[in-house]
Amino acid sequence: MTSPQVAIVGAGIAGLSCARALAERGITSQLFDKSRGPGGRISSKRAAPSAVDLGAQYFTARAPAFQAQVETAAQAGALARWQPRIATASSEGFQLSPDDQNRWVGTPRMGAFAHFLAEGLDIAPSTRIETLDALRQRFDRIVLAIPADQARDLVSGVAPPAQAPCWAAWVDIDVDQPFDAAFVSHDAVRWIANDSSKPGRTHSRRWVVHATPQWSQDHLELSPAQALSQLIDAARTIMPAAFSVVDSGIHRWRFARPWDGQAPVDGGCILADEQVILAGDYCMGGRVEGAWLSGRHAAELI
Ligand SMILES: Cc1cc2nc3c(=O)[nH]c(=O)nc-3n(C[C@H](O)[C@H](O)[C@H](O)COP(=O)(O)OP(=O)(O)OC[C@H]3O[C@@H](n4cnc5c(N)ncnc54)[C@H](O)[C@@H]3O)c2cc1C
Repeated sequence: MTSPQVAIVGAGIAGLSCARALAERGITSQLFDKSRGPGGRISSKRAAPSAVDLGAQYFTARAPAFQAQVETAAQAGALARWQPRIATASSEGFQLSPDDQNRWVGTPRMGAFAHFLAEGLDIAPSTRIETLDALRQRFDRIVLAIPADQARDLVSGVAPPAQAPCWAAWVDIDVDQPFDAAFVSHDAVRWIANDSSKPGRTHSRRWVVHATPQWSQDHLELSPAQALSQLIDAARTIMPAAFSVVDSGIHRWRFARPWDGQAPVDGGCILADEQVILAGDYCMGGRVEGAWLSGRHAAELI
């Protein structure tokens, strides 16, 4: 039996884990990504003097196979535990809420985990796949490891769940706060975190502010400057110590996370037709671990 020729569209965590699982079985694959580097929604954005994690903030590892992957990456220095002073917060105040969660972050930035997974893989960067026609001619199997809404544009007859947007701001401030990260109850904001409290970061007092899915949807077409200003105003009502803004920026994720309450799909990936498989976080709960597991399910199907 000859090895199948496999194309993987998307070099986020799902695509990378699929490619690695195939490689473990002696099957090579060709990855394509529209971005300059791997990582997708865990990639960090450049913001002088270093970078900032505007997508995934941290991740947990529950499945034994993913735990083993995390351990290997941690031993290689690509991941470390983050132990923030965690709180719940709102405009009414905050409360520290320590827990025993193991939170993993890439070091020195989140995207380091993707670069670790990408080692030795064949990735064509800056290559947006607009149609599957050419790939269908060249490859036996095609894995679409891209957000559900983008997969829907490339294959007909499947209805993967829609994903919610997220406006994600960063702001360098001039004072310390009494917590490092908070789950927020607020119309506009759902999460704030001091990126500088993660291991290996060189900046200081750089905070990330994530808008809620609904606020992001309702304000999707704001200009970046307007969205940034509104989120900083909201953050001022949530962060206990009054601050001045030293520097700031914002990014809009059009397809950030599944809308709350979406069930995982059976089997962890979707067989669209005899050639095409859909994989990604949305197939398994909408997180980094789910993306990694979904990629492996796709590899197993192949
Ligand atoms: C704001 C935000 C906060 C988050 N917070 C957390 C968190 O704290 N913990 C957690 O576990 N998860 C979090 N997540 C979710 C986590 O980032 C994702 O679940 C995971 O990274 C998704 O991986 P993926 O491989 O499925 O998709 P992606 O990371 O989206 O990868 C898809 C890749 O496909 C590429 N691509 C898309 N279309 C094409 C095309 N047509 N041609 C070529 N390439 C294409 C993209 O460039 C991208 O690199 C967060 C996400 C966001 C956006």
